Amino acid sequence: IILTTMVSFWLISLVASIYLSRWSLKPVLAAYEKEKNFVENASHELRTPLTILQNRLELLFQKPTATIIDESENISQSLAEVRNMRMLTSNLLNLAKRDGGLKVELTKVNQTYFEKIFENYKLLAENSNRAFTSTVNFKDQVRLDESLIKQVLTILFDNAVKYSDDGSQIAIQVEKTGQNLIITTSDNGFGISDADKKKIFDRFYRVDKARTRQKGGFGLGLALAKQIIDACGGRIDVQDNQPQGTKFIIKLRV
Ligand code: ADP
Repeated sequence: IILTTMVSFWLISLVASIYLSRWSLKPVLAAYEKEKNFVENASHELRTPLTILQNRLELLFQKPTATIIDESENISQSLAEVRNMRMLTSNLLNLAKRDGGLKVELTKVNQTYFEKIFENYKLLAENSNRAFTSTVNFKDQVRLDESLIKQVLTILFDNAVKYSDDGSQIAIQVEKTGQNLIITTSDNGFGISDADKKKIFDRFYRVDKARTRQKGGFGLGLALAKQIIDACGGRIDVQDNQPQGTKFIIKLRV
């Protein structure tokens, strides 16, 4: 009896300790998996332009008598890949630098801060055959980090242009309710499915990899935007725009 009790006790504690250790290791394993995915994704994204560049340079070597004019298409495509890599590495550096804690510097701004940014967007939208409208509606001053919030607005505006067709409409609305500044960007572009909405703020997540690469995206923009808004103590959400497209809503305590 003593032996059976001891063996059963030992078996129960063994099963319990395995179960508990798996349970307590779960967050560590999840963080490890996330890190691993990040490194894999970053390496993959860097390898693609590098491979294209290598192929193009090898092709150039095979035509030693060709002139720069003959090969201008090849050279400009190579340059485009170098620019891609630069953009990716600077995005990666930004993300990494900020992982250690993003420094938020608050200053007081009024409506003019937003109006100046939106004047630029209007021109950019016109150049891309999009219509841009904005309404800024708050009194007095609010406290925010001018450079960081501008970065977020630009990410959202660029995406609204990238993920919509010619002739689309983009709108940004800024208003204050109580102590919160609510910034809403909306477009009537391609929209985002409910399943994708849950993932778009993850690093390197892109709904349509082939199309996004063509448009020059790495799936880091919204991750950066969320990192900034989190650091500012706010929140950013995505919704469907009615009847079509996407809406991002930022809530900032100002
Ligand atoms: P990317 O560099 O690919 O644009 P983001 O992190 O900015 O990376 O966006 C992630 C993905 O979310 C994009 O690849 C795109 O599929 C989707 N997305 C972002 N903004 C919009 C939008 N306004 N309309 C439709 N899809 C969008």
